[in-house]
Amino acid sequence: MPDAIVGARRRRARRPGWGGAGWGWPWLGGGGGVPGDFVGARRRRARSGDVALIIMPLLHQITPYTAYVPGANNLGVILTGDGGAIAVDTGLDKDTGRMVRRALEEAGLRLCAIISTHHHADHIGGNDYLVRNLPGVAVYASRLEAPFIENPLLEPVYLALGASPPAALRTKWLMAKGVPVHQIIDGDTLEIAGVTLEIADLPGHSLGQIGVAFDGVCFAADGFFGPEVLAKHGIPYAHDVAAQIASLERLAMRDERFFLPGHGTLTPRSDLNATIQANRHAIERASRAVRDALAEPGDILTIARRVQQALGLTIAGLPQYAIFVSAVAAHLSYLEAQGGATLVMTSEGAVWRGGS
Ligand SMILES: [Zn+2]
Repeated sequence: MPDAIVGARRRRARRPGWGGAGWGWPWLGGGGGVPGDFVGARRRRARSGDVALIIMPLLHQITPYTAYVPGANNLGVILTGDGGAIAVDTGLDKDTGRMVRRALEEAGLRLCAIISTHHHADHIGGNDYLVRNLPGVAVYASRLEAPFIENPLLEPVYLALGASPPAALRTKWLMAKGVPVHQIIDGDTLEIAGVTLEIADLPGHSLGQIGVAFDGVCFAADGFFGPEVLAKHGIPYAHDVAAQIASLERLAMRDERFFLPGHGTLTPRSDLNATIQANRHAIERASRAVRDALAEPGDILTIARRVQQALGLTIAGLPQYAIFVSAVAAHLSYLEAQGGATLVMTSEGAVWRGGS
């Protein structure tokens, strides 16, 4: 939620006497930073009623050339070393785009590029604001994600079975503003502004999701979720469950020092295996619930209702429901590929049955 991120800016100083010496940004001449330290050499005072608050800088340093703006959507930042910065995803909307801009301005950085890891609205929603307001910002995305980033109506279209979507699905949660993708990411590496980034293929959560690795940090997008995020959601959203599991396996093989999920806390390598295991369990739990729901034949919405009941999920609104049904459909296709489900045509319409 954008409000949650904005709210996180204002907090009492936890370290009285913190002087904000530069640490790690080469052009600030600082020493080595500690992950989680606040980037920037300034602090400002504000007043709320009669309580003095310190407004902390938005950008949190991870390693010397990486940082992020924490929040419900973590916003990644890669430093190019000459005062330039690359954003890895831009959050939900104009407000998160503005936050990326302010975070970089506070740290004296100039945005030169955006890498959009995948097309979901909560990852690309700030693109339009940043591209409009900052000159020369190029947008990069993978070949499969680019059409959705350029034409965001496609997300509610697929959630509406290909139809022109109803008003309830034309919400900013599902439909960002589109921007042209200037460069397609193909291959394992990407050169931007003199730095070479490693690209990790992480399909499954969406068709062509990618992660980005640089300077000891893997920005893993929705390739995995923090355990606290998993606990809140019944099914970790998938487009292709087999690919999602394979991407988790590939993440587990990586050796960066830190892994930043799109949603959840910054994860040191030492915690990664347990977090990936928690993601696997959540996917298996969902898969079991879908398989159990096939004890009796049913159409997709009937199966979805049974799964919802089995997992004890309260689904608040139509966008969330559309996403949930889509995730159940992904699990049905996954079971079908394993011989555990079949879609048949009946006089009642298309019906799923257990087994092959
Ligand atoms: Zn996503």
